[in-house]
Amino acid sequence: MEFMTKPQQKALNKFKGIKSNDNAKEKGFFPKRHFTSKDILKLIKNRKRISPTIKSLIKTSSIIKNHSSSKEYKTKISKEEFYKLDNYIQNILQMNSWGVASFTEKEIFKGNAIPYKNVIVLSKRMKNDHFIVEELPNIDCMLEVMEVYGDTGTACLKVTSLLRSMGFGALPNHSLGGNVDYTKAGYKANLGFIGKHGLLITPHSGPCNRLSIIYTSIENLNDFMHTEDHSWGNSFCNKCKKCVATCPYNAIYEDNKIDKNGHIECISNQICNSGFTKYGCAICIAACPFTKLGYSNIKSKVIK
Ligand code: SF4
Ligand code: SF4
Repeated sequence: MEFMTKPQQKALNKFKGIKSNDNAKEKGFFPKRHFTSKDILKLIKNRKRISPTIKSLIKTSSIIKNHSSSKEYKTKISKEEFYKLDNYIQNILQMNSWGVASFTEKEIFKGNAIPYKNVIVLSKRMKNDHFIVEELPNIDCMLEVMEVYGDTGTACLKVTSLLRSMGFGALPNHSLGGNVDYTKAGYKANLGFIGKHGLLITPHSGPCNRLSIIYTSIENLNDFMHTEDHSWGNSFCNKCKKCVATCPYNAIYEDNKIDKNGHIECISNQICNSGFTKYGCAICIAACPFTKLGYSNIKSKVIK
């Protein structure tokens, strides 16, 4: 998969934007996948679900490359422009939520750069029924993940085009292969909280979601955004710990680790990624009460 995400990474790194510093974190690696012939046949049969991911990923690097860094871009969005953007993201592109975050040098993956510190984060639901099954991991989960990678990847290209047509600087980062940590982006954008399993837990679909981002010259988006307090979720996690107990490889830390540069680690990516070679794992998603019961049902029982 890395050979497919490298071109956008290289294209982003060419911009004279914000570079990672010595306190930045290394990017995680993609585990190698080994498929059986039965799996390959299923993937071929479902190619229409996968092809938007591949097409949008290929298109991303060319869209990044055709952005001129010498042009002057608008930095302030008006109320009317904001509502146009909001309507486009939620009603036309059917994203389930979106928000705004900003990144510093140490929050960019080591050796990488981003064109603007401000980002728009898009979030889309994955159908949870693929994850509430006896047999995990399975290829249907992987297909659902791939399909939503395509939805979010395509959406970040379209939002980029809209913003550029309005006179703003905008560069997409596909749902696959970010130069920053997307879970952190979702958290910073107030789209949810980070569960013990290291996934973003959102009001619209618990941990069953995918994200993509758009770097932008706009500096005042937060003037129009509503915020929600998700901090109760971390207290819930501290009592639950189901994912910690269920992870077959003991990859999830009972208590988060904080490294010397202040980066919070919920799981060992190394252990998690080395545990499976086929479709990903998703056992922690299945175990998480937010997958089955939903955010608002749990919240209404916890906060009375
Ligand atoms: S995906 Fe699987 S291995 Fe990784 S943390 Fe979740 S349960 Fe553990
Ligand atoms: S399984 Fe429990 S502890 Fe783990 S993320 Fe979900 S709610 Fe939090």
